[in-house]
Formats: sequence, structure tokens, C-alpha cells
Amino acid sequence: MLGAFLTVLSKIKAVTTLILALVLGFGVVEPLQAAQLGVVATDAKIVGGEDVTDFSLRLSQGVTVEVFTLANPYRVILDMPDVSFKLPKSAGRKGEGLVKAFRYGLFAARKARVVIDTLSPVSIEQAVMDPAGGQAVKLRLRLKAIDAETFGSGTGAAMASAHRAAPSSATIRPKSSRPGYRPVIVIDPGHGGIDPGTIGPNNIYEKDVVLKVGLALRAELVGRGGFDVKMTRTDDVFVQLDKRLAFSREKDADLFISLHADAIADKRYVSKVRGATVYTLSERASDEAARQAAEKENSADAIAGLPSTADDDVGEVRDILIDLVKRETANFSADFSSILVDRLGRKIRLSSKPRRAAAFKVLRQTSTPSVLVELGYLSNREDEKSLTSPAWHKKTAQSITRAIESYFARRTALSK
Ligand SMILES: [Zn+2]
Repeated sequence: MLGAFLTVLSKIKAVTTLILALVLGFGVVEPLQAAQLGVVATDAKIVGGEDVTDFSLRLSQGVTVEVFTLANPYRVILDMPDVSFKLPKSAGRKGEGLVKAFRYGLFAARKARVVIDTLSPVSIEQAVMDPAGGQAVKLRLRLKAIDAETFGSGTGAAMASAHRAAPSSATIRPKSSRPGYRPVIVIDPGHGGIDPGTIGPNNIYEKDVVLKVGLALRAELVGRGGFDVKMTRTDDVFVQLDKRLAFSREKDADLFISLHADAIADKRYVSKVRGATVYTLSERASDEAARQAAEKENSADAIAGLPSTADDDVGEVRDILIDLVKRETANFSADFSSILVDRLGRKIRLSSKPRRAAAFKVLRQTSTPSVLVELGYLSNREDEKSLTSPAWHKKTAQSITRAIESYFARRTALSK
């Protein structure tokens, strides 16, 4: 018979890390390559009240699961090898007891994660894996409400500081003036894996839409030739914001295009608010809607269960040379955004104010001109139709490609 085994690895202040391992009669199963094993998660359940809530997940076989809690906001994280989730699309969207909601998906290559949002600080009272017929197991967590003081503060602070990006090196001369040089275009489909991004009323995920447009854009650019095209993700995997920035820096990108889609909750406006918007970086938002859009997109890391990083790297880069490069980069970004709005406007619906600016983390790039495109609103029926149409993806990809071509044609002309 299968037994349950539980080791408490560490209990440092608020971070409680428990390793659950399944004992198969003889011993502990080694850290598992779940992909090879084909482990499938089905049937997640939440039962309980405001003091104690149980979370359970059925797995086709036992795997090593790491469980820990995080603050700001309060979350419980379950890390495991890449389990595939076969849960109903609505799973996790409605909470119960102490659980507000939960998300799941691939967090990194061969790493799956479940993030449980809780209404208050909680402790992990119990974490066990029970046999559930054949090789299957039922992972059970018992969460108990505790006060913030018991939970402690500063959770994850040490981890957060390790993620801080170093100021990038500066190059003023546009590389595109070198003969035979192919500009490097980085396409950045937002969200992915555990972070679905915005979810439309008909369960259309932003992460899926933007990946499709990203792949269509790459195909278009490669087809036209003359560009070296890179993507921050090409499948359904989570990529944290810092990694997207580091990728752009590593590839020495000449242009960075982040792709997103939006939605609004207010039913009174869903039929009116629609269309695409192109954002550039500004630490002061152009308007309230832009500020909210940036806040939403910047929360991607927290949604995936990463500790919140201090939002302080803006003032860090003080070097005058870098300031100059940043100003030049900002000018090029603005230049591209106006070309892009013009091109998109000829083929697809634009929002009422299609050029905006706000403090998007993913646009904080020293030497790479960058824009973030909100392609439309999943909350609007017409937009939703467009956003899920392959013909629209292609049309949009073509418009962005034309804009990229005229932008570089102009830059090359200027630098001669
Ligand atoms: Zn987004």
C-alpha cells in the first residue's frame, strides 16, 4: 500500500517549505522527470471556511512537491515537475473559504506551479499525499488563517534582490548603419504558462492570443527577409519580466515589441471600449487608463508566484552617458510608435487614444527602442472575434512588419 511521507525542510519565519514525497513501500521516489512519466493533474477541490480551508489535487502518480507561502500578496505556492493540468478551464477562478482563487501551469521548463491566492495570511497546517487508487495520489493541503504578525514580514526579500537587473552597457551609434547588418527584432508575447494574462468572458486567454500574433509576426518578418528575429517565448511557458529584459539586452535588440491584449470589467463600457493601443515608456502615465494598464501588466510576476520586487530600479541608472542613450532610445521608441499606429490604423481598429505612455517594466530598456502593443479588448465582442481570428492575426502581423520596415528605412537614411 502506498503511504504518505512528509518532511519539514525549513521553517524560517514566514516561509514554510515543506517537501512532500511519496513513499513507494521501499523508499522515497527520486526527484522526478514528470514529463517522462506523463503525470497528469485532475480534479482540484477547495473545501472549507474562513478559519481552515483544504485544497486538494489529484495526480496520476506521486511526484515531489514543494510548498511554501509568500506575502504581498498572500499566496501559497506548490512547485512540482512538469505535470500537465487537465482541469476544467474555469478551475481556480472561484474561491472558497480562505482561498480567493488559484492558477496553474508551466512555470519554467519542466517545472509546474500552482499559485493559490489567499484572503489572509495562512500557515500550512498539513500537507500530505494519500493513495487514490492505482498509482494515483491525492495531494492535500490544509491552510489555516493566521495573523500578519505570526506570518512575519519581508518574505522573499532576499530572493527579490537577487533578481535586480544590472544597468546595461551603452552604445549610442545605431548598429543598423553598418553595411549588411540585419536589425535584431525581439518579439515579446506577454504572459504564458502559469500566467494566463487577461481572461475574456468566453475563457479566451490573453497568453494564447498574443503568442499566435507573435508567431504570425515572426513568420511575416522572416518571409520579408532582412531581419534577425528573436522571441522571448515560442510556447506556453511563463517568462518573468526581468528575463524578458535580459533577453533583449543579450540579443542586443534594435527593436523590442511586447504583445498584449486587454479587457475591462465594467459592463457599461464593454461594447464601446475596443481597439489597439501602442504604449511607450514614461514613468508618468499619459492618463489614468494607461497607468492602470501598466499596473496590470507589471503584476505578471506576482501572478506567477514570484516574490514582489522593490520597484526602485528606475532611479538606479545615474550615469550621464546612459541618460543620453536613454533619451535617444525614447525618441526612437516614440518614432516607431507613431509609424506603428499609422500602419495599424489602416488595417485594424484602433482605440480612442491609440498612442499612450506608462511605466511598463518590460519597456525599461536603456538602449533598445521598445513599444508595448495592447492589441484589443477581450471584453468586447467584436475585438474578441478579431483576436481569435487567424486572418486578423496575419493582417496585424503584416501591418507591424510594414511599420518595422519603414522605421528602419528611415533610420538607415538618417545615419548615412
Ligand atoms: Zn498582458
